[in-house]
Amino acid sequence: MKVAVVGAGIAGGYLGRLLEEAGISPDVYEWGDHGTSCGYRSCGWGAPDTTGTLLHHAGLDLDDYLLQPMVTMNFDGLVARTPLYTLDKPRLIRDLRSGLRITQRRFTDREADDYDVVVDATGIARALLPPCMSDLTLPTLQHRISIRSHGGDVPGPGVYGNQIPGLGYIWVFPLGRGQYHIGAGGLVFDRYGEVLEHYFKELSLTYSLTTHCGCSGEIRVASPFYSQPLVSARSRGDGTLQRIIGVGESVGTVSPFTGEGIIYSLECAKILADSWLDEKAYVSRVLSRFGWMKKERETLDYLLSEPGATGPRLRDRWRFYRNARRSGVRLPLIEAFRRIGSLSRWMEGEGEHGA
Ligand SMILES: Cc1cc2nc3c(=O)[nH]c(=O)nc-3n(C[C@H](O)[C@H](O)[C@H](O)COP(=O)(O)OP(=O)(O)OC[C@H]3O[C@@H](n4cnc5c(N)ncnc54)[C@H](O)[C@@H]3O)c2cc1C
Repeated sequence: MKVAVVGAGIAGGYLGRLLEEAGISPDVYEWGDHGTSCGYRSCGWGAPDTTGTLLHHAGLDLDDYLLQPMVTMNFDGLVARTPLYTLDKPRLIRDLRSGLRITQRRFTDREADDYDVVVDATGIARALLPPCMSDLTLPTLQHRISIRSHGGDVPGPGVYGNQIPGLGYIWVFPLGRGQYHIGAGGLVFDRYGEVLEHYFKELSLTYSLTTHCGCSGEIRVASPFYSQPLVSARSRGDGTLQRIIGVGESVGTVSPFTGEGIIYSLECAKILADSWLDEKAYVSRVLSRFGWMKKERETLDYLLSEPGATGPRLRDRWRFYRNARRSGVRLPLIEAFRRIGSLSRWMEGEGEHGA
């Protein structure tokens, strides 16, 4: 049986390694350069420490990729403990790819017929599966910045929803050695350039800033449920069927509220490797494991709808709170419910919509 894994990002690289270990030697296709200065797709590089367990299955040690712990994070003024780190994602992807048989080019129909199974690990491109049942993508803009303090103090990690009108936030993720990823993303609103410029202007009142690079990108926040079909089939030239199986962000394994996709794409790839070629089991496990993403997506849909303009319902606030707990962020319940208000436009007058 001939297997191709298309896309060697987080999900495809990890899956490739797991399949190699299981004695299935896939051909891996990666079309490469993204026009970013790090050579990879844009990403904040934030991930929880539990990523280590997944990396361990692929013979990798999380410690080799840790850049900076984010022990506490500022959520619109509320400081909470987190298990998050920034990871050296380019190095992680390089190590995931090492030992794999990689063809450096875009996968095309020309070679597709050679394979019995093709895995779509192409992330936001979703190059091989049919379109999602109901897609939703979040545009982003991010810069890598050096920040030097005049007085000694430097900015800590933070997520600021009250800086962006509509649903979205600015993130400030320290990468170590005075460098940061600072980005903005959101639904409805697209003037991130201006928002970031304003934010940098404010920062530069206290710090010296040097911009190294910047890139834009999109994140699929549709959820796996709304990214169905997760598997598909196509007829080859000789009439036989080829199976196409999606993994990672191509099938929406990203938290719709936060855009975190690293750990969930690894987890999705592990589920695929563990249930290899039992497509029914794979789909059912992905939909069940990431069922909470469907709920988050539905909250986004509600907030984007006309009735949602009046503010989040109790269940939406609960989902925000659950999201934080799932990520290991220690938010006190009552305070979190109150502050979550500041995560979006209609909650600017916090008191008006308090839980
Ligand atoms: C600005 C930004 C910030 C983010 N910040 C975070 C964060 O801090 N923490 C977090 O957890 N997640 C973050 N994410 C999300 C996270 O990066 C993704 O969800 C995750 O990388 C998805 O992994 P993947 O392997 O599914 O897709 P990707 O990592 O995108 O990999 C897909 C690969 O497929 C390749 N490819 C595409 N089409 C083809 C083709 N036709 N032929 C061959 N190869 C192809 C691409 O080159 C790419 O390498 C962020 C995303 C963005 C855009």
